[in-house]
Amino acid sequence: MSARPFLASILSLACLAALPAFAATDNTPLPADALATAAKLRDAGMAGDATDGSSAYDIVESLTTEIGERLAGTPPAERAVEWAKAKFKAFGYDKVYTEPVTFEMWTRGHEDANVVSPYPQHLAITALGHSVGTNGPLEADIVEFANLDALKAAKPGTLDGKIAYISNRMQRSKDGSGYGPAVMARVDGPSIAGKLGAKALLIRSIGTDHERMPHTGILEYTADAPKIPAAALSNSDADLLSNMLRRGAPVRVKLELGGEMHGMVTSYNVIGEITGRTRPDEVVTIGGHLDSWDLGTGAIDDGAGVAITMGAGALLHRLHLRPDRTVRVIAYMDEEAGSFGGKAYAEAHLAQLKRHQLGAESDFGAARIYALHAGVKDSAWPVIEQIGQVLAPLGIVTERNATDADAGPDTGEFAAKGMAWAQLAQDGTDYFDWHHTANDTLDKIDPKALDQQAAAYAVLAYLAAEAKDSMGSGEMPLPKPEQ
Ligand SMILES: [Zn+2]
Repeated sequence: MSARPFLASILSLACLAALPAFAATDNTPLPADALATAAKLRDAGMAGDATDGSSAYDIVESLTTEIGERLAGTPPAERAVEWAKAKFKAFGYDKVYTEPVTFEMWTRGHEDANVVSPYPQHLAITALGHSVGTNGPLEADIVEFANLDALKAAKPGTLDGKIAYISNRMQRSKDGSGYGPAVMARVDGPSIAGKLGAKALLIRSIGTDHERMPHTGILEYTADAPKIPAAALSNSDADLLSNMLRRGAPVRVKLELGGEMHGMVTSYNVIGEITGRTRPDEVVTIGGHLDSWDLGTGAIDDGAGVAITMGAGALLHRLHLRPDRTVRVIAYMDEEAGSFGGKAYAEAHLAQLKRHQLGAESDFGAARIYALHAGVKDSAWPVIEQIGQVLAPLGIVTERNATDADAGPDTGEFAAKGMAWAQLAQDGTDYFDWHHTANDTLDKIDPKALDQQAAAYAVLAYLAAEAKDSMGSGEMPLPKPEQ
């Protein structure tokens, strides 16, 4: 369901006189000089000719080369925090600081899987994030379920001593809408299988590729279920296992997973600001997440998002632009295990909710942006339309009632508390081929596509920061983002 019709119905029912924030003066469009400046900003971003290492591609090249994978809480993630502080400073941000983020740390350890009988073969698997280990080899017969619903419908006891296996395949789409329905097997599957008596869970990777490359990603154990080890098979190996099972004889698998929790640790969101000219305590936030999974180098998830938004702020500085409000770029920590950076930011800044003009986030890979979506009060929609007009030459269309509009995982935490938000929707057609795999590496990124995105974020941040009136944070129930 689109959140927009819901919002419109609230507005039509509301007594406007009782809500002075909706006065007609909020329709004031952006001034012509701000729009002209934004067009220059867009064109400078598209030129991609920064020589100081502040182009989005140079930034993600630096992060993946000098740091690489950066699983939250581990030493490389801590090096990434220092890296981000140094980059913000080098690119002329006038305030650079960190804010604490506390979360439970996990490491993967050794992992291996083999079919023991009837067709002995190695299987390419990887543990799901936060999975417990197997405590030595675990050997059991496999029971296949076509999807999570089929597992939920299994009779108690049918999985006693077995390894459950969920085999549904994620569907490819531009907006990534295949992810939501498929990913629940990963998130909820382990506890559902555990309650049914399974010793472990295997799932087909939540990914659209045909590579022998398993996709990791977080699971969520529930308090009322035994914690069982859980891993993803590559799509190729999921096919293999299903083909073996279809022959009818019991298929026995030996699984070894070394996953381990290490208790609570504190790391940091890293923040850089271009301080506002006339309203420095009002902010527009843009950002991505600094942590990544440990299999690849975290190039598309989410080195690209950090680079695009850090590069956008650097572009403002390079063109000597200081908008009315502060532009705050946030490199969030530990998005992957549950948007902990976004949650920490929302909690720490709740009292300043109304001073947040707009929030946006890049966390959907590195392919070009094709649409502008937003969750703002109705009277601020003309501002979004004007921003959209500046973005139109980049191939970006403004869509008011998009059903797939989403504030993003970290920004969504504050948007759920009432922050106005925008989404620069990226083409996700190929994203889930590489997402959360060892294949998430720099060679998947087109530098020109990153220029388009950094240009778009610079325009969005600049114009939202220049808009005369509030876009609605804290004033009314804004559309609730999907998680
Ligand atoms: Zn991500």
